[in-house]
Amino acid sequence: SKAPKSIDWHIERRKDYFGENLSISYQSPIFVQKAAFQYMYDGYGNTFLDAYNNIPHVGHCHPKVVEAGQRQMAQLNTNTRYLYDLLPAYAEKLLSYFPKSLNKIFLVNSGSAASDLAIRMAKAHTQWDGIMVTEHGYHGNTQTSIDVSDYKFSNPKGQGQKGHILKTPIPDTYWGKYKNEDAGSLYAKDAIALLQESEMAVAAFISEPIVGCGGQVPLAKGYLKELYPAIRANGGICISDEVQTGFGRLGDHFWGFEAQEVIPDMVILGKPIGNGHPMGAVVCTQEIADSFAKGVEFFSSFGGNPVSCAIGMAVLETIEEENLQSNAKNVGLCYTKLLGDLKQKYPCIGDVRGSGLFLGLEIISEKTLKQNHQIAQYIKNELRKRHILISTDGPFDSVLKTKPPLCFSSENAKEVVDTIDHILGKYYQ
Ligand code: PMP
Repeated sequence: SKAPKSIDWHIERRKDYFGENLSISYQSPIFVQKAAFQYMYDGYGNTFLDAYNNIPHVGHCHPKVVEAGQRQMAQLNTNTRYLYDLLPAYAEKLLSYFPKSLNKIFLVNSGSAASDLAIRMAKAHTQWDGIMVTEHGYHGNTQTSIDVSDYKFSNPKGQGQKGHILKTPIPDTYWGKYKNEDAGSLYAKDAIALLQESEMAVAAFISEPIVGCGGQVPLAKGYLKELYPAIRANGGICISDEVQTGFGRLGDHFWGFEAQEVIPDMVILGKPIGNGHPMGAVVCTQEIADSFAKGVEFFSSFGGNPVSCAIGMAVLETIEEENLQSNAKNVGLCYTKLLGDLKQKYPCIGDVRGSGLFLGLEIISEKTLKQNHQIAQYIKNELRKRHILISTDGPFDSVLKTKPPLCFSSENAKEVVDTIDHILGKYYQ
């Protein structure tokens, strides 16, 4: 048989066809060939433990999801201008996970398309243009989604903050100005003051319940509970971006907004919804759907197609059949405990945070107690050498992120933590 091509060959080949801003993970990128559940396999015979990828939510290439897609692809694929059972059946099933007030759904093909649509609908509903966003938030790659994503527009290479955007400080109890029990309320009061002082006609407030790209930062407890009513009293609507946090990943709750004890007016879904098949959705109230329906036709060539509906349905059934939300909770508790023990041992771990199987480790410098990009990158790349995949993110790219497929086991968690222990042990030798 032909000898396998080198990693460098694959990198060069990519450069032939794609722009330099199509990034690749790790100092030594992975030429991946197959994946199953929480494992990925490269073209050189190596197995990787995937503690990173949250899109294959119920497990890479889960047979039930694969089979559902294959079966439907062989039977019918068309668009929402035709009638087929799978469309309302899937909508009914997905909406059964939401509070009753959220009873309408719009199906698209990515989280970005969903964010874009949500902003458009908020503007249609309120007839206003302003959008209040969270510092370090990320909502997608379309122009509209970038406009509401501080993570992108405030990047030194970004386009800057546009005039219709109002940015609130992230309610972060680790780095932020409030750290105590009442931090959520204090942050909310500041945000409300900002809203009132701005005199901007704010159509919507958009945020993630745990700010993923910002470095897995959970909104301070009680923040949304105090802020949402003020947004509404001011005439705006409240949007929760559940692209990262939804579908049971947080363990205690199926949706991240539940942890904040609020009900949004609109929810954005993506990533895990199709286990890797490109899907996204906006879920909203009857009133917002009605306002939007006064405008031009809504149509998406692929959104809500029968194959996507069959796959989305299989994902939900698998979460239920395999008790994946409770697995996220139990394994998440064990993982958090083990990481907490590691934090006691190594002063470079400043914080362990998150919920269920959506966790972050803040890596800091022992002396300055500031973010330490270099050690975080070192740990990530050393883990990769030992065939464990995790990522880094946050404004200083200094937060180790772990958000594995929900079939991840306590043994898997222990392997990750033991390996970080080994890497840091050697680092401090
Ligand atoms: N919202 C959040 C919170 C995300 O993390 C992402 C993707 N990282 C998106 C929206 C955009 O989703 P997509 O990449 O599917 O367009």
